[in-house]
Amino acid sequence: MTTITLVQGDITRQSVDAVVNAANSSLLGGGGVDGAIHRRGGPAILADCRRLRASQYGKGLPTGRAVATTAGELDARWVIHTVGPVYQVSGGDPDLLASCYRASLEVADELGARTVAFPAISTGAYGWPMADAARIAVEAVRTARTAVEEVRFVLFDEQAYQVFAELIG
Ligand code: ADP
Repeated sequence: MTTITLVQGDITRQSVDAVVNAANSSLLGGGGVDGAIHRRGGPAILADCRRLRASQYGKGLPTGRAVATTAGELDARWVIHTVGPVYQVSGGDPDLLASCYRASLEVADELGARTVAFPAISTGAYGWPMADAARIAVEAVRTARTAVEEVRFVLFDEQAYQVFAELIG
């Protein structure tokens, strides 16, 4: 059984086996969660990302997929990078957003991670409305077949926390 927990705060301050990064497909850093993870985790994470770009992800990590690196100086063993879909005027693809959570949990299972912290993927620079993204995130985690024992959603602000809290009950 996977327990879902909620925390309001900074995902880079979590003590977990794996921290999920809302990355972009370049894997070479960005703003938001991505920037915060690389800042606090240090250069070892970017070095691993560059190696991935030089090997199996020459064209970058496709949307909805996930891949792990070291967590550098974070209080975690791994960072799992996943690329959320961009929300457009016409909407976003909910299957791709759900896929980010499922693929990240599959990578966590391969690593043997038991506690995994997720941000609200796609709800920052990628523009997904929080209520809809939260519903997709919670549903994807609840229906995933995984050995991960704790999925911790780490929400940056009170409003996002409340949206998740209403769904988790
Ligand atoms: P995306 O590009 O997938 O939209 P962002 O990193 O821009 O990703 O934002 C995703 C969510 O993470 C947003 O709700 C944002 O407020 C939140 N966020 C930004 N920094 C942090 C942080 N350090 N810890 C947790 N959540 C964060």
